Amino acid sequence: MSDIEKVQCLIIGSGPAGYTAAIYAARANLSPVLYTGMEMGGQLTQTTEVENFPGYPKGIMGPAMMDEFRQQAENMGTDIRFGVATKVDFSGTLHKVWIDDTKEIHAESVILATGATAKRLGLESEQRLNGKGVSACAVCDGFFYRGKPVSIVGGGDTACEDALYLANLCPEVHMLVRRDELRASKVMQSRVLKNERIKIYWNTEAEEVLGDDEVEGLRIKNNKTNETQILTISGFFVAIGHTPNSSIFKPFIDTNNQGYVITKPKSTETNVKGVFACGDLQDDKYRQAVSAAGTGCMAALDAERYLGVLHEG
Ligand code: NDP
Repeated sequence: MSDIEKVQCLIIGSGPAGYTAAIYAARANLSPVLYTGMEMGGQLTQTTEVENFPGYPKGIMGPAMMDEFRQQAENMGTDIRFGVATKVDFSGTLHKVWIDDTKEIHAESVILATGATAKRLGLESEQRLNGKGVSACAVCDGFFYRGKPVSIVGGGDTACEDALYLANLCPEVHMLVRRDELRASKVMQSRVLKNERIKIYWNTEAEEVLGDDEVEGLRIKNNKTNETQILTISGFFVAIGHTPNSSIFKPFIDTNNQGYVITKPKSTETNVKGVFACGDLQDDKYRQAVSAAGTGCMAALDAERYLGVLHEG
């Protein structure tokens, strides 16, 4: 039997964007209901120290910061619930969203803040040994490999940050970069290049993660010379970027070729009236906690204006 609930403002996602939208929506008396998704608190719960969010002069741990966001949203009156949006139907004036395939919500306005998820290489061995030495989160899992050699793939800020984190725990960090340069910011590049525990393999890709029940090695290949080599490692970290969590919205919501939700300039409006998008789901450029929070605020203000007009008319 379906269990339909009607809400004014439904927020999907619990990262900086979703919680900020909730704070603003609650203060505007929109009685927001927020579904957290699987990863309550979003990507920042997998980070250690956050030093660049204004208002924390001494820095703060990612999970602690997200807990403060949650408390603030809750204190303002947001109804925060654990659950995953599994299907939507945005074809009518009331927007239908199913939670965990069972509960049906009819929302006058919806704020999409589902963020992005770490990308994988797509190797069979990577999948088979996931959680058995293969990880997409150095900060979460690095500790298990302290004192052991590890490898990391990627050349962006995340890979550099993770390589530095791992270098504090592990004697050897073999870093695979598929081109002959890093994509990361100059400051991160210089920290990585200076670290004696990090060895960079340029123009190099992972071919196969080796091991039966746990990671024991990695076969790598230089994509210029085609030479292969086997590294003895216990942990393999994949840090090659993210994919926006937009798949369930795509039948109704316009996205770009990478899957990021398209919003109107200087707005969080999507192509569907009453559906707004904020945070990493719609930002393929800045992708910062503070910019996500900023667009979360914008989404709540846009929803408030939309609901005002809807109720007047
Ligand atoms: P990016 O997209 O910036 O970098 C991804 C990296 O992975 C690139 O070096 C890319 O190579 C490589 N890559 C992608 N696919 C593959 C593949 N299949 N095989 C091998 N390598 C691959 O992602 P990040 O997660 O690093 O960063 C995302 C955003 O977040 C950026 O804007 C970044 O600046 C920001 N960020 C900021 C931080 C901070 O300020 N403290 C910390 C972490 C992230 P190629 O370069 O060849 O495309």
